Amino acid sequence: MTEAAVRVDGLAKSYGTVHALVDVSVQVPRGACVALVGESGSGKTTLLRCINRLIEPDAGRITVFGTDVRERDPVTLRRAIGYVPQEGGLLPHWRIRRNVALVPWLDGMTDARARADRALSLVGLEQALGERWPHELSGGQRQRAAVARAIAGGQSLVLLDEPFGALDAIARSDLQRMVMALRAATQVTLVLVTHDLQEALRLATIMVVMRAGRVEQSAPPAEVLGAPATPYVAALLARAGVNAA
Ligand code: ADP
Ligand code: MG
Repeated sequence: MTEAAVRVDGLAKSYGTVHALVDVSVQVPRGACVALVGESGSGKTTLLRCINRLIEPDAGRITVFGTDVRERDPVTLRRAIGYVPQEGGLLPHWRIRRNVALVPWLDGMTDARARADRALSLVGLEQALGERWPHELSGGQRQRAAVARAIAGGQSLVLLDEPFGALDAIARSDLQRMVMALRAATQVTLVLVTHDLQEALRLATIMVVMRAGRVEQSAPPAEVLGAPATPYVAALLARAGVNAA
């Protein structure tokens, strides 16, 4: 029961001469919110997509709740792990409720609709919005629906790749509050990619700072702020206008 939600050991992935990941090791405790931060191209998306086997690494090992992901069928693994890409990934020709009910429905759950409704309320969306088409929602509402879809099947791990990156500051702040409420209401473990250090500081229990495919520092936000492990981390914080309290 004490095993981590996700354990990444010695992960490596190259695209030709580009080393997207170089000996990456990360631990995600159960119930944590781990924020992967770093500049564009530092390997955040690659790492996230190795966890649900959308990308196969060249070397290293990943376990999810104690099981090596290579022992899992990729399709069922991806269904068991919620995934929210930047653009949300809702199917445009399906109403919101059907989108949210996708995984419970695929899993043959007879209460798929009730699960979708519960997920909608967990992300703060009115039930009536379930009848709308994705294009009839605001950007913030669409991302809430995308998060609802990622949890509706009872997923205990959700991967989010810059889910709020395209939203304005007010919507982004609302969605961050939604994430905090969701964590308070459920046991869900989150791995969140963000290029927004303020967002990471606000939401994360552990920040993983990446640089050119390597982990520069992995620690609680207060520790990253108070004791940046490298000059690079200190410079990244300074550039983002983030200072130690
Ligand atoms: P981030 O999400 O931090 O912006 P990525 O994981 O997307 O970074 O990319 C890490 C590095 O790998 C970058 O140099 C990127 O250009 C490269 N890369 C990612 N995916 C591919 C791909 N399919 N083919 C070639 N290079 C890729
Ligand atoms: Mg990315």
